[in-house]
Amino acid sequence: MVEWTTPVERLDRLGDHLGIELLAARDDLLPFPLAGNKVRKLTAELDTWPDLPHVVITNGGVTSNHCRTLAFLGAARGFAVHLVLHGETDVAATSLAMVDALGATWTTGPASSIKERVAEAVAGADAAGQSFRIVPGGCHTAAGARAYRAAAAAILTEHKPDWVVLASGTGATHGGIAAAAHHLGAEAHVVGFSVARSQERGRSAVVEAATWAGVLDSLAIDFRDTTVDGGYAVAGERTGNAVALGWRFGLPVDATYTGKALAGLLELVESGEIRAGERVLFWHTGGLVNALEPAARGRRASRKTP
Ligand SMILES: *Cc1c(COP(=O)(O)O)cnc(C)c1O
Repeated sequence: MVEWTTPVERLDRLGDHLGIELLAARDDLLPFPLAGNKVRKLTAELDTWPDLPHVVITNGGVTSNHCRTLAFLGAARGFAVHLVLHGETDVAATSLAMVDALGATWTTGPASSIKERVAEAVAGADAAGQSFRIVPGGCHTAAGARAYRAAAAAILTEHKPDWVVLASGTGATHGGIAAAAHHLGAEAHVVGFSVARSQERGRSAVVEAATWAGVLDSLAIDFRDTTVDGGYAVAGERTGNAVALGWRFGLPVDATYTGKALAGLLELVESGEIRAGERVLFWHTGGLVNALEPAARGRRASRKTP
């Protein structure tokens, strides 16, 4: 079993700028190549398997951190990885070059053909007499949610934030952290800002994950879709400005995930929901590769900085 210890640091300069006490939980700095939340979720998931299969099949966007992280784990531990991707390859050169170098195979096409392409990959493995497993997109699994509950329990106990703010996608990270706060009876108000999904669908996936992590009270989930800004891996001016602000204060955020969480934090500060001087933990979930892809670079360069 791999234990991941999330570094927590104070962001005094950005905190002063926002009038709050700001801490960051840096899962982007875990000791794993280009880290992020997927390494915690995936290693927890792999730990539940009695044996490694020949091939692991999963799906995600062309720049998916989940998919690249699985490719790293496959190369390191000795199982084949097949990725069913969606989106345009021209915005994913960096991600796809890494996935290729790691020896994973992939197809890309529209999101509407994911099911069919997963079925083809399964048929291919069967025909070759290979054992296989399918990991849900984003590693939306009970083991992933529980791993986040455990990580958050330690950090919330030590740092006692008033708020936790994070990017919420497929839901297990948010569900696990919210479960930890609820279980501890912690004061922390956990808010997940959507990177793609609208309120109803996004929230129900987080509630599902929190349930896996042992919390049955859906009222414990605060999921907001005010930051979607055009959809998954799409970003408008608001996200772009949040990304620019983060970098100017030394916090590397991206326009697909963590920039949207930072836009959400700004929203909570501007609306007065977060009051002056409160202690806020910004849970940084990774996404450096997303910030390095050409499309994201173009967006960042075109933004005016504050
Ligand atoms: C996947 C991902 C998220 C969202 O995590 P979920 O557990 O899917 O909600 C947030 N940030 C980054 C950088 C990610 O790769």
